[in-house]
Amino acid sequence: MTSFSIHGVGVSGGIAIGQAHLVSNALLEVVHYQLPKHLIEDEIERFSNAVATVKQDLEQINSSFRKNAPAELSAFIGTHLMMLADRSLSEAPKDIIRNEQCNAEWAIKLQMDDIVDQFEQIEDEYLRERKQDVIQVVERIIKVLLGHQSQLTTEQQASATQEERRLILVAHDISPADAIQFKQHQFAAFITDVGGATSHTAILARSLNIPSIVALQHARDLINNGELIIVDGDLGVVIVSPSKEILAEYKLRQELWELEQQKLQRIKTTKAVTIDGTTIELFANIEVPEDVTAVRAVGATGIGLYRTEFLFMNRRDMPDEEEQFLAYKAVAEAMKGAPVTIRTLDLGADKQMNPDSVVNCANPALGLRAIRLCLSEPQIFHTQLRALLRASHFGHIKILIPMLCTLAELRQTKLLLERAKSSLRKEQIPFDENISLGGMIEIPAAAINAEAFANELDFLSIGTNDLIQYTLAIDRTDDAVAHLYNPLHPSVLKLISITIKAGAKLGKSVSVCGEMAGDVKLTKLLIGMGLRQLSMHPSHILSIKQQVLHSQLTQLNIQARKVLGLTDIEKIEALVAKFNLN
Ligand code: PEP
Ligand code: MG
Repeated sequence: MTSFSIHGVGVSGGIAIGQAHLVSNALLEVVHYQLPKHLIEDEIERFSNAVATVKQDLEQINSSFRKNAPAELSAFIGTHLMMLADRSLSEAPKDIIRNEQCNAEWAIKLQMDDIVDQFEQIEDEYLRERKQDVIQVVERIIKVLLGHQSQLTTEQQASATQEERRLILVAHDISPADAIQFKQHQFAAFITDVGGATSHTAILARSLNIPSIVALQHARDLINNGELIIVDGDLGVVIVSPSKEILAEYKLRQELWELEQQKLQRIKTTKAVTIDGTTIELFANIEVPEDVTAVRAVGATGIGLYRTEFLFMNRRDMPDEEEQFLAYKAVAEAMKGAPVTIRTLDLGADKQMNPDSVVNCANPALGLRAIRLCLSEPQIFHTQLRALLRASHFGHIKILIPMLCTLAELRQTKLLLERAKSSLRKEQIPFDENISLGGMIEIPAAAINAEAFANELDFLSIGTNDLIQYTLAIDRTDDAVAHLYNPLHPSVLKLISITIKAGAKLGKSVSVCGEMAGDVKLTKLLIGMGLRQLSMHPSHILSIKQQVLHSQLTQLNIQARKVLGLTDIEKIEALVAKFNLN
């Protein structure tokens, strides 16, 4: 086997060596072929066997759920079992195979298209969305027909972890809704053909704390299942079928990397203080309550960003107030009085509730997303605000509003928060009357007007992922423009600086919670610009802390001022690289 390498964009560092595990998109793989008459009955039997296998899989998954698993999960599987038993999925395709003399995959796909068309005609939005369940069930049948491994049950997953640690996921694309499910697994690495470094898929990949690379273009076509590959997350390179020498070299580098990680553990309880004595608070970003374990393991000051939208994904209905309350309360309690900044729902753009959702607007990133969506669906927002307020009684919760653009949005949000508070007061349900309200600065218009926002909020948090996307007009999910996505663009730095100054002037704290905060190459610049709070994935906290411990603030202030005076990206990059050497 000849060795070759593929280059992409590294989104999470480290080295992994393992076997490629191709993640299929079964629906794309369906081909159409005709069968001779004498094979038709065999084909029908093949179809029946596939349906039986899927039924067995679903039943096994259902029975392997732990007792305390959310009821929705079981209901979800129940719906799929019901659909599978329905004549239209289990019998009608057999007629198609017979009448059209075609293969089983094609028959079930034709039938699915027909059913989905019927769902599309339904007025009721909830029922219309049920088409996703049909698609998911059909995908399962097709995967079995194509000979892909059937879905692992949770029990099997547990015993497969050893195996998983050596597997490298190779996918064309993975939606954030899919990626969140990988948190239950322990793969060695994660690589995709498409995506940008700050797409939500990449952010999730990073939070898995395994090497990952996106924008590899044709990796999924070029790599075979089971092939040995090396993933170098730092360089963004995948080496397929490496030679003995290359493999030995990478094994050595992998050991050194692991040693480095172990050494970082020594500063776990050390405070993040610069050489000249200024404390920098290092917070963690989380996506699901279970992430708190990783946060506590690295001794973070608190949670600077809890992205609640992941609670709303991969399910048929919205989480109700009680379910949300329990999730937020669990995080608040686990953090034992340390601040927990919970961001209200930021659905929309690349974060859809379901991986197969069809986005019906031309520019989803500029569409009905985050606070815009919440203000247009006040009932959903009211439920979340009540859940957040109720949970605030059990810890130190702060509320963070995403994607603010106008003061009118902020004032409307405050009215709705007041309404949620008064409804709780009426019911005599306790909550933190002094709960802090902060806003994300991630739209250039908000950064330019940061003083006005700081005036009406308790704190600001800069979402650099979106701030860069909107300032530079670069879709954060698009690999074709990934090379242009640059946090060191002078205009991005100016907007960050305006926001920091606005906070300082009005005595309001400002943090960065975008991916810039976890990039060790930018730490000295950010603290030199005046930031005292950074929030990042737990896996970055120790390396950022080490950088803080090596920083001399007085010197960095001067250098940051010089950087802000430059207008040329290349010159900025050179200067930042220079003061990182000190
Ligand atoms: C950001 O935009 O920087 C941010 C933290 O929010 P998200 O990545 O969830 O959009
Ligand atoms: Mg954002």
